[in-house]
Amino acid sequence: MKGFEYIEEELNQMKAEGTFRPLIPIESDQGAKVTIEGKELIQLSSNNYLGLTTHPRLKLAAVRAADEYGAGTGSVRTIAGTFSMHNDFEEKLAEFKHTEATLVLQSGFTANQAVLASLLTKEDVVISDELNHASIIDGIRLTKAARKIYKHVDLKSLEEALQSTQDYRKRLVVTDGVFSMDGNIAPLPEIVELCEKYDALIMVDDAHASGVLGRNGRGTVDHFDLNGRVHIQVGTLSKAVGVLGGYIASTQAVRDYLIHKGRPFLFSTSHPPAVTAACSEAVDVLLEEPELIEQLWENTRYFKAGLTKLGFDTGHSDTPITPVIVGDEAKAHQLSDKLKEYGVFAQGIAFPTVAKGLARVRTIVTAQHNQTILDEALTAFEKAGKELNII
Ligand code: PMP
Repeated sequence: MKGFEYIEEELNQMKAEGTFRPLIPIESDQGAKVTIEGKELIQLSSNNYLGLTTHPRLKLAAVRAADEYGAGTGSVRTIAGTFSMHNDFEEKLAEFKHTEATLVLQSGFTANQAVLASLLTKEDVVISDELNHASIIDGIRLTKAARKIYKHVDLKSLEEALQSTQDYRKRLVVTDGVFSMDGNIAPLPEIVELCEKYDALIMVDDAHASGVLGRNGRGTVDHFDLNGRVHIQVGTLSKAVGVLGGYIASTQAVRDYLIHKGRPFLFSTSHPPAVTAACSEAVDVLLEEPELIEQLWENTRYFKAGLTKLGFDTGHSDTPITPVIVGDEAKAHQLSDKLKEYGVFAQGIAFPTVAKGLARVRTIVTAQHNQTILDEALTAFEKAGKELNII
């Protein structure tokens, strides 16, 4: 069909530059190893931190819920798509998060959009870390509020932004709890202190901390003992929780308001019963099987130390996300391709996901790995890194 030649041109250019990346289908479940093109590879690219995507309790909960309540809900939450299990799960999640209320949305992405687009007006300003996730950036694009960007985790830059915005009605400071491409944790205690000093609201996107940091995986707010001092926590159910969805943990008023004003909540169908039941079971697993989080952190320490010893630049990560920074975009993809040859699935990540010149292979270990598998992965990294003159 004619009409999109200008797009084809751009795609051809990407192919010539080696930056075109086709989708890679996985032919197995999301385990420590996955099957791709018929070959078993060590999975180092998923966000399945605790291995919950394949946890027998979650699978059983999903199957039972589908059997009893059907495959879908047939409506948005506000019309006919709220099942009792949706409300029950939100109450359970609020108790888990030590907040007054929660509201679950289709994804973490839409949760950020709902909050940022609906809680602020043109009398307000949102103050955002420059490396915040794309869903925050897009949420900010949707708000009528003014915008101010501060330098990445730079408290001086944040304070300047707070000082220069004192005339706005409300100021909302937004930060990722854990930054998804570098794995560093935001200096939340200091950010909260600054927000309290300048009477600003604070919102944390805890996508990569949910199920990873804090007691039983309650997130960065709990990790830093800041319960009750952060106005809005956005979490995801799609990564460590192992299923799908995003949530806002805040006050009852915020929940009620978003039910009426949050457009992704209002205009998109609710989660199927299997999703909600599996998420609910996942919270029980977090509470009852803390050894999964311990295993995740043990694997993280082991793998990070191995990569550093080999001489890779692994940035400043404090979490299971460990970037192997290569710099050049084509080289990052070459490293990823070589690793695949040697039995490891670790995707290359480049602009616009990370800044130009900071292309990398991002690795994430999970609780499913063990030292034998991680040693295999390190051997592959050593071979590929030496062949490409990275180490
Ligand atoms: N926030 C951050 C920091 C993320 O890394 C992601 C996922 N890439 C999201 C939000 C979106 O979460 P979800 O995948 O549930 O839409």
